[in-house]
Amino acid sequence: SAGQGEMPEHVWNKIKDHPCYSEEAHHYFARMHVAVAPACNIQCNYCNRKYDCSNESRPGVTSERMTPEQAALKVVAVANKVPQLSVLGIAGPGDSMFDWRKTFETFRQVEKRLPDLKFCVSTNGLALPDHIDALADHNIDHVTVTINMVDPEIGTLIYPWIYHNGKRYTGLDASKILHERQMESLEALASKNILVKVNSVMIPGVNDQHLLEVNAAIKARGAFLHNVMPLISDAAHGTHFGLTGQRGPSAAELKDLQDKLAGGANLMRHCRQCRADAVGMLGEDLSQDFTMDKIDAEV
Ligand code: SF4
Ligand code: SF4
Repeated sequence: SAGQGEMPEHVWNKIKDHPCYSEEAHHYFARMHVAVAPACNIQCNYCNRKYDCSNESRPGVTSERMTPEQAALKVVAVANKVPQLSVLGIAGPGDSMFDWRKTFETFRQVEKRLPDLKFCVSTNGLALPDHIDALADHNIDHVTVTINMVDPEIGTLIYPWIYHNGKRYTGLDASKILHERQMESLEALASKNILVKVNSVMIPGVNDQHLLEVNAAIKARGAFLHNVMPLISDAAHGTHFGLTGQRGPSAAELKDLQDKLAGGANLMRHCRQCRADAVGMLGEDLSQDFTMDKIDAEV
């Protein structure tokens, strides 16, 4: 888990009150997500579009889609009842930077009402380089980028296509562009002093050993945390990875990889994969107490 450990002071100061990073803070502060970003600009083989982006969620869980205005009402309703609320994250159900208009409009609506709330976004990084300045204009301490490869050949096993600058790319071209944009994102965020956490989905037989190289590459570009998440198998994923389906890693395989990575970018192990409309203290899910019908009934 992430205590200050060997973390530099300037990093620690930005995350010590953040429930997702600090073992201590997650007992005192709460975070919530609003599901304002339904569209995505890439296809991951492990994604089932019916559900939330696997960046921060489990298959089988569908978020309530909402407009930025509805999202702001919901955030205010939660803040009134959960005074520990310190962070608002936008993590899907698609990609927060592809759906950037909705993401930034949500920030504008929320910061009018709750100027002290911190924001974070989670993204695959493809569109991110175009929005670095806009992100820096808001109360953002950090960004999460999901990076599953730094070798486009491996990328072809994970990403059948991307949609970039109005064009669809497939095969090696798609993975090359995605890889370059992800590395560009890390460098640009570092230059703005925005902390970057990298999430990787561990896919046995596809990128499991390769994540050591990913760890070195992201560390070299300043990422402060590398969070390796297990692929969560779902019957629906089998159709993408092949007829027999793709299994997720065992607990022992996951731990073995995390141990190997421990000398690299600080690993965060207490992270829960939370859904795109999660509400509450980490490990707690109050989302069903704050559905739009209940909020509308109150305001
Ligand atoms: Fe699905 Fe997220 Fe991948 Fe987009 S980035 S395809 S929403 S898992
Ligand atoms: Fe932000 Fe990720 Fe925590 Fe959600 S889980 S609040 S996106 S750091």
